[in-house]
Amino acid sequence: MEATFQQGLSLVVQMLRGLEGQPEFRADTSTLQRIVLLASSIRDTAVTDESRISEPPQIGETFLQHALLRVSEQTPVPEPGAAAQSLEELLAKVLVGTKCPNLVAFRHSVVFGIGNPNSELMFVGEAPGADEDRQGEPFVGRAGELLTKIIQTMGYQRSEVYIANVLKCRPDIPPGTPGNRQPTPSEMATCLPYLREQIELIQPKLMVALGGTAMRGLFGKDEPMKLMRGRWHLFGSIPVMATFHPSYLLRNQALSLKRQVWEDMLQVLERLGHPISERQKNYFLPK
Ligand code: URA
Repeated sequence: MEATFQQGLSLVVQMLRGLEGQPEFRADTSTLQRIVLLASSIRDTAVTDESRISEPPQIGETFLQHALLRVSEQTPVPEPGAAAQSLEELLAKVLVGTKCPNLVAFRHSVVFGIGNPNSELMFVGEAPGADEDRQGEPFVGRAGELLTKIIQTMGYQRSEVYIANVLKCRPDIPPGTPGNRQPTPSEMATCLPYLREQIELIQPKLMVALGGTAMRGLFGKDEPMKLMRGRWHLFGSIPVMATFHPSYLLRNQALSLKRQVWEDMLQVLERLGHPISERQKNYFLPK
């Protein structure tokens, strides 16, 4: 019985592979990832008559591979409540989670996080927007481009730091409505344990909280950003620099705001012991 179900799942994946070359093809990457996890969990408990179990499909260098790459068929899903031993296991846990059914039904991707899992520096935003939901990666829209510039100006490649959000799913909005909505306090409280585990696995030396919503999600602090930014806050034992969200900088083009964010980043570099050039010191100062 289980083997038949497993064969069914393999067929589903094969069918999707057949479809993906077609122009109309649009798939929910987190559903695809869940199919793979489901197939693997069934394989673990299935009858061991291997001749009855068809080979898992080979995934080509395509959209499907991108969707499935991050969670392998061998990834165990930790028992509910058990801590994940790796980021891959944590992703598997997030993928099978259904604590926010409205978000699970709305999303196209779980936007888990990206970057160097051993990074000394981690950036935390609020939640994926439409671009991130489509691509399965945090900070890839306009705000993401600006964040990438900030990271590079600090002297890192984007891939050298780790970037995540408080929420792993895009907050749902009514069909046809443009834009994004902020996560609710209850959504953030529900998702925070995943971020907490992510931070424990990465163990960055420092973190940067991007904007007031990230600060509320991490600390439950509801103070104006004007008061929180430029200061260190402790998340467990990890110092967190609060700064303005890149979207805020896009909406408010004042040089003085850019300078404030930059001064926050200079504090981060200084605390990490990085040398700071004269040029870096002087960015965004009035001429
Ligand atoms: N804003 C966020 O806070 N996070 C993203 O991933 C994108 C935009």
